[in-house]
Amino acid sequence: MAPAGPFFAPGGPLSRAHPAYEPRAGQEEMAGAVERVLRDGGVLMVEAGTGTGKTLAYLVPAIEAGRRVVVATGTRNLQDQIFRMDLPFLREKAGMAFSACLMKGRENYLCRYRLAQFATKPMFEVLDERRWLPVIRKWSRSTESGDRAEIPDLPDALKVWRDVNARADTCTGRKCPEFESCWLTRLKRQAERSQILVVNHHLFFADLGVRTAFGSVLPEYDTVVFDEAHLIEETATQYFGVQVSSAQVEELARDAETLAAKSGGSAKGGGGASALRQAAREFFGVLRERLDQGQGRLRFDPPGRDGPDLEHEWTALSAALDGLANEGAGGDEARASLEARGGEIKEALALVLQRSDPGFVYSMEGRGRGSVVLAAAPIDLSALLREGLFSSLQAAVLTSATLAVEGKFDFFQRRLGLETCETLIVESPFDHERQAVLYLPKRMPEPRDKGFLGRAVEEILALLEITDGRAFLLFTSYAVMARVREALEQDGSWTLFVQGDGSKAALVESFKTADRGVLLGTTSFWHGVDVPGEALSLVVVDKLPFDVPADPLIAARIERIRAAGGNPFREYQTPMAVLELKQGLGRLLRSRSDRGILAVLDPRLTSRPYGRTFLASLPPYPRVREIEACRAFFGGPKGPEGQA
Ligand code: SF4
Repeated sequence: MAPAGPFFAPGGPLSRAHPAYEPRAGQEEMAGAVERVLRDGGVLMVEAGTGTGKTLAYLVPAIEAGRRVVVATGTRNLQDQIFRMDLPFLREKAGMAFSACLMKGRENYLCRYRLAQFATKPMFEVLDERRWLPVIRKWSRSTESGDRAEIPDLPDALKVWRDVNARADTCTGRKCPEFESCWLTRLKRQAERSQILVVNHHLFFADLGVRTAFGSVLPEYDTVVFDEAHLIEETATQYFGVQVSSAQVEELARDAETLAAKSGGSAKGGGGASALRQAAREFFGVLRERLDQGQGRLRFDPPGRDGPDLEHEWTALSAALDGLANEGAGGDEARASLEARGGEIKEALALVLQRSDPGFVYSMEGRGRGSVVLAAAPIDLSALLREGLFSSLQAAVLTSATLAVEGKFDFFQRRLGLETCETLIVESPFDHERQAVLYLPKRMPEPRDKGFLGRAVEEILALLEITDGRAFLLFTSYAVMARVREALEQDGSWTLFVQGDGSKAALVESFKTADRGVLLGTTSFWHGVDVPGEALSLVVVDKLPFDVPADPLIAARIERIRAAGGNPFREYQTPMAVLELKQGLGRLLRSRSDRGILAVLDPRLTSRPYGRTFLASLPPYPRVREIEACRAFFGGPKGPEGQA
């Protein structure tokens, strides 16, 4: 394995390949640490500030390691950027030789078999979607990959895609007549021959759960680099737990009905669909009633602790799921697949209904269009990750711009079961003291005070005037976002882009070129949104982003720490909020030439003792307390005046 350091050094391959490349000590340091862990084994955690060039700092040693390395990103954007920009750059411009493969979740690929079946007698859940079938069929004749991303305007939520995609529960693997020409079979073979596999966390953890079945898509590996590693715990929680939804049962009923209709049976309710729907309505109806009385995700306790008693409804639903096997029509393969899906749903529901494992938290949640989700989620992932993942790897690197709290990794290490791993902080090369100011307005009421919203709107309007819009307003709740939107609409001076009015990508793209653009978003906009340059000159955060302690999973994690004699606010809630705030504020500076204002309207940052933990974890932005200081900074070329 060639040392990675010289690659990044002045006059090295990177500076020859990229004339504008400026050597960065942090990048070289990170590449050296990654190279060591890939060579000697173990786990390395690296916080690499924005602008470090961390992607190349792990890709170069990964390629030079000469063995298979899985690179798992938190977002599709980064996955695409690595595969379409960084890897081709290293191959074509820097002359590195390696093979690579981009892999997405199975649902992204078209299933030849299901498409052919569907096309013989199409049954559309949404009639308007009929126009998409010829588009998909035409594309299927020329595509090399079967990846839906090749049809750029295919709507994300297209229902008919669910009828033709290559998801695991409908795939019969080697028994499928299309197995040899299947895009997934080809992709898996390509992956077998590839050194670098670029996946996302969802695919990685989904695959980890099905390593033995045909559903698995990744070939054997012993080395993984997790980028955007701050998102691992959340994603892994989903895959180490169990989730079942009423929508999944409805989908099964619909497929049973379709199969029955194709075999000449009833087009409505055939193949056991009627009985299944009736039983599901009664079962999920009990939950829906409970959910109507509460907000968001609620605990799903056993009857002895005032949870819903579903014994009677479960007997009927379980019989209806078994009934699919007896009443099902169609060919053997299709029928076996339905039966297997019914069996999986039954098994998952039975597990959640027990509500008895003290290591899990059980919850019920209402989602769009009346769907109900029942889930069992592990409270503590540390042992599961250590034993189920890290102990079987030869080497792993976890990196992100936000992993450390007050310069330490304890929080993250504890959460992921990696107390003894190697750690490294690589400072951002940005000049935070000249590129930004952190505005903490005086005289702000506490967020719970009824005067908070009015004052927040005043501050936001004053800041928008200074930067001429070009702002992200990041909220911790939809309710506050909606009220600020109302106020800005009344003001009428701004072009607003509000979460929910379009896809995230489309909103961000339109925002970039808008005149006096202001983008309003909650949780998902705190992460992975990248707007370099003047188009983004102001980021405002309304409140410190503490997770809602009423959420069953958060509440269970808090309780677990308290029961072990710890202090959950200090050990869990505060570090989580610190990392989230670092992410949100990190949206502003994306290059060395960016400048702008950061504002946190929550006075607890300066009035409460824990505020010091937040401030000590942020880059050294100069702090200002008066709006005039923001004006002076933004108007002038030099550093801030009126620093706190
Ligand atoms: S092998 Fe599975 S995914 Fe591939 S065409 Fe057949 S059923 Fe579809």
